[in-house]
Amino acid sequence: MRYPYEPQDYVRCTCCGIDVRNVPGENVYLNLPDGNSYPSDDGYGMCIACGGDPSADVNDTSEANIRKRLGYGMIVFYNARIEIMERALNPENAALFKKLDYASKISLVIKAVEDGLIV
Ligand SMILES: [Zn+2]
Repeated sequence: MRYPYEPQDYVRCTCCGIDVRNVPGENVYLNLPDGNSYPSDDGYGMCIACGGDPSADVNDTSEANIRKRLGYGMIVFYNARIEIMERALNPENAALFKKLDYASKISLVIKAVEDGLIV
């Protein structure tokens, strides 16, 4: 790490490895609400495809838009936990869970993570 920190023109995505311009519209880590806690090493960031598109409509609950908002990294996170929840439920509840839309499944996964039922 370089001190003092010198902003770089490009950073490497920690998820997929592509280089992105180090600006808020391309490096999603620069869009985080707490700008003081940059969550990556010097020289690394996260592209929109992996980290989610901050320009996506927050009121559009279609699966396509939710996936756009989440980005690849979070889609992988949620999809893995959706599968875990489906396997953990009894057959009757699993069938009901499978019928839910993507937004509802994600909401239940978030609740389960917040409650400490899954990590
Ligand atoms: Zn990426």
